[in-house]
Amino acid sequence: MNSLTDRDHQVIWHPYTQHKNKLPPIPVVKGQDALLWDDQGNAYIDAISSWWVSIHGHGNPYIAQKIYEQALKLEHVIFTGFTHEPAVLLAERLLPLLPGAFSRVFYSDNGSTAVEVAIKMAVQYWKNDGHTSRKKILAFHNSYHGDTFGSMSVSERSVFTAAFQDYLFEPLFIETPNAENIGHLQDILRRQGQEIACFIYEPLLQGAGGMCMYEAAALDQLLEAAKEQGILCIADEVMTGFGRTGKLFAGDYLQHKADIICLSKGLTGGTMAMGATAATEKIFNAFLSDDRRKTLFHGHSFTANPLACTAALASLDLLLEKDCDRRLRRINEQHSAFATQLKQYPIVRNVRILGTVIAFEINVGDDGYINPAGLDLTQRALEKGVYLRPLGNTVYIMPPYCITEKEMDQVYTFLVQYIEGNTAAR
Ligand SMILES: *Cc1c(COP(=O)(O)O)cnc(C)c1O
Repeated sequence: MNSLTDRDHQVIWHPYTQHKNKLPPIPVVKGQDALLWDDQGNAYIDAISSWWVSIHGHGNPYIAQKIYEQALKLEHVIFTGFTHEPAVLLAERLLPLLPGAFSRVFYSDNGSTAVEVAIKMAVQYWKNDGHTSRKKILAFHNSYHGDTFGSMSVSERSVFTAAFQDYLFEPLFIETPNAENIGHLQDILRRQGQEIACFIYEPLLQGAGGMCMYEAAALDQLLEAAKEQGILCIADEVMTGFGRTGKLFAGDYLQHKADIICLSKGLTGGTMAMGATAATEKIFNAFLSDDRRKTLFHGHSFTANPLACTAALASLDLLLEKDCDRRLRRINEQHSAFATQLKQYPIVRNVRILGTVIAFEINVGDDGYINPAGLDLTQRALEKGVYLRPLGNTVYIMPPYCITEKEMDQVYTFLVQYIEGNTAAR
């Protein structure tokens, strides 16, 4: 029998992977807490929570047990005309925790679909209401909202979207707000607000666009202006949700709350694929009608999958334990100490922290996703038993909350060695 990598090479097409001359993928056979093991017995610290999803780490026995028990009862059922306990209970438990007056949950499969649903809700809200002038969608430069066509359309134009440019709809892009530009941005909203259906934003932290952080106070001012114009606000908390930013949701740092919120990634603790879009009663009511054309015609085969809902409930249990909050704070404190250390290196730029996320640029080549620095760093890190995956030359750590102090130190130590190695080489 050929090795798993050889077999993979014959039949698999990997995401975000240039298959010409790519390094062979690492066969992972086991995960436990912050660690992943390959088939040779090497362990790697998963310092980015497997693309930001595994908030409680790998192989969590509590979540696994709950999924197992649910699988014996009901693994799946169509969700139109039927309902089930895990879906209802998850909505009941989730809604009061969300940052805003949300009252309805729509389930889907992933972050991109959560965003698609949100955009469709907002656009059809105005259509159902007979407002034909609200056609524009407002979005931030540098944003990332997913890889399906709608979610790509509201994302920054980049190497990710270039091939599809002719097929994307065009939102009105504005800069993320700060103390200097907020007046200008408010002016734009005052002038064009009545033509804008909705505004989609990643609150406080733009993830795939390069881990860019911006101030809650400025976002609040922008949201206030948007609300004055009746623009529906869509918070994309697919990445920032479930403790990532130090609070339960990034929206908890804000005064002005969204009308629609998108969730995925940490929702199931990274165990099952699931998305959720929550809306306020005002949005939901706009779809109530004797005219069947006002229905939200959207759904997925696996909408509200009972196993995924059960995993999300179990993940919430873990997230709401006191211990979890303590872990979030400890990670944040460790990041702060590391940030001080990083500032002494001239090739390190723009060190920033929000909750459990630390990010910075290393001055090697040009900024941007296709900067090769990241690939080199990933390779060197693996040799030291650490898994990191920079966005171009933007290095970030986004650990599972169960990572130990010692494991965090191991990640920092690798980075310091890598930076010193690159400094010496110049
Ligand atoms: C990852 C991400 C998405 C897309 O989620 P997928 O599950 O990968 O489709 C959308 N929005 C944000 C902010 C994300 O970080």
